[in-house]
Amino acid sequence: MKKLRLILGDQLNQKHSWFNEVDPDITYIMAEMRQETDYVKHHIQKVVAFFMAMRSFKDDLTDKGHQFIYLKITDAENLQDLDSIIKDHIKKTNAEKFEYLLPDEYRLDQQLKDICKSLDITSEAFDTEHFYTSRTELADFYKGNKQMVMESFYRMMRKKHDIMMANGQPEGGKWNFDQSNRKKWKGEPEIPHKRGFRKDVSGILEELEKAEVKTFGNIDANSFNWPVTREDSLSVLRYFCKELLVHFGDYQDALHTDEKFLFHSRLSFAMNSKILSPKEVIDKVLDFYYDNEKDIDISQVEGFVRQILGWREYMRGIYWKEMPEYKQLNKLDNHNNLPDFFWTGETKMNCLKHAIGQSLDEAYAHHIQRLMIIGNYALLTQLHPDEVDKWYLGVYIDAIEWVEITNTRGMSQFADGGIVATKPYVSSANYINKMSNYCGGCQYSHTKKVGENACPFNSLYWNFLNEKREHFKDNHRMNMMMSLLEKKNNAELNDLQERAQQIISNPDNY
Ligand code: FAD
Ligand code: SF4
Repeated sequence: MKKLRLILGDQLNQKHSWFNEVDPDITYIMAEMRQETDYVKHHIQKVVAFFMAMRSFKDDLTDKGHQFIYLKITDAENLQDLDSIIKDHIKKTNAEKFEYLLPDEYRLDQQLKDICKSLDITSEAFDTEHFYTSRTELADFYKGNKQMVMESFYRMMRKKHDIMMANGQPEGGKWNFDQSNRKKWKGEPEIPHKRGFRKDVSGILEELEKAEVKTFGNIDANSFNWPVTREDSLSVLRYFCKELLVHFGDYQDALHTDEKFLFHSRLSFAMNSKILSPKEVIDKVLDFYYDNEKDIDISQVEGFVRQILGWREYMRGIYWKEMPEYKQLNKLDNHNNLPDFFWTGETKMNCLKHAIGQSLDEAYAHHIQRLMIIGNYALLTQLHPDEVDKWYLGVYIDAIEWVEITNTRGMSQFADGGIVATKPYVSSANYINKMSNYCGGCQYSHTKKVGENACPFNSLYWNFLNEKREHFKDNHRMNMMMSLLEKKNNAELNDLQERAQQIISNPDNY
């Protein structure tokens, strides 16, 4: 039977069972589409990375004998949206059946279901064979529970997949070494020379220009450094194991003006595009750890495993449990617009200047920059979660809705009212100064709360707690913060509010 099989840009799993055998009756189709470049404005590096990764995937599988139709963004016969492309190529290939891999995004899932309903041939959806969990595993695990906590899901996953377990107990005697993941980086230990690919991407940039795809952010046409092939992705993984794993956990929460990546793996694009599977990443890291156990502390490894086996799978499960309603949630009732400096990095606040500037330059910021600098500011200034989501979905190389929205709207903006996080991640300058060297080079004083050179985060923090106090009155994890707020006298609170309102009403002046 002649079949047409669709592969989306984030389904680049070369190890999928579809490719176990070459079948001349099967044609695979992949397309660079305006539908995908335009649903949100993306960072230029993100579009380049996806298109390059898709092209490399097609080349590798064509070399193995599989039959591919590949539509480039500039191809005249490219109809630019899924519906038209699928129907057009069913006709052209005389396909008798249409098959696709289950998308990870709700929007595409709905679209493909609708397309299949309108076809006059049969269709079938298959698993991507990428994640440890199915779409519904988390929902089944928490059935009947009011509150979901990542830790219980993570422990179940460790046991189920027998990862870092010894005789039914967690290796090292503890499930979680989070407490030891909180060191500030002060120039040492040295971070080994960064691995780069320095690819020339001028050709693809010309194509994007010709197609008039609108993007933002910066790119060096002669030195593109994201891994977009399987070989390059595996080399980033090896580099991480050899050079960075040894300090990964210790400096996971650290921030520094001179080091954009610290000991982070930068594997998120390779995993989210499915070039690498989470299982092969975890297996490689554990193999390396067991071979070098004398030199690597378990806390470094557990911290890494928790991010992938725990958080990544957890976010996927929450997404499929809560969508599509999740996308509308705004439980804290925030409505402010995104300041212009999110698109330029031009602000006097040194922490934001670095975190946003780096996001625009690299299409990357590490977790704490996303959460405790940019996300913290967005929440304290009460930006509308739709605006915040749109920015995060566009700017990061790894941003795909299932993992972006749960982290942004959920973990960072608390717009889901506590589905992902048990309390909002907000802080004053105190935390930022504790974990970074940003404040040292800032024109604001991190210790001052009011007055011209007082750090904006300080007044914004108290103003936020005060304005949202109704939302937090029953949240016992907020008790300490709220009782400190209660201790402030009216005059002090008025001054803080006044300063915060000035900042909120004119964010680009600060
Ligand atoms: P490392 O620090 O080396 O961690 C290793 C891996 O663990 C990552 O590659 C990632 O796959 C996984 N991981 C770590 N934290 C998380 C998490 N919270 N949720 C899911 N997986 C996690 N991650 C994305 O992949 N796409 C996004 O769009 C995204 N948006 C985010 C938005 C906000 C507001 C926040 C706070 C976090 C977001 N994250 C997102 C999670 C995390 O910041 C990135 O996965 C990480 O920074 C990627 O860099 P890395 O590969 O160097 O990660
Ligand atoms: Fe950021 Fe405030 Fe520190 Fe400046 S003083 S870097 S604005 S936290």
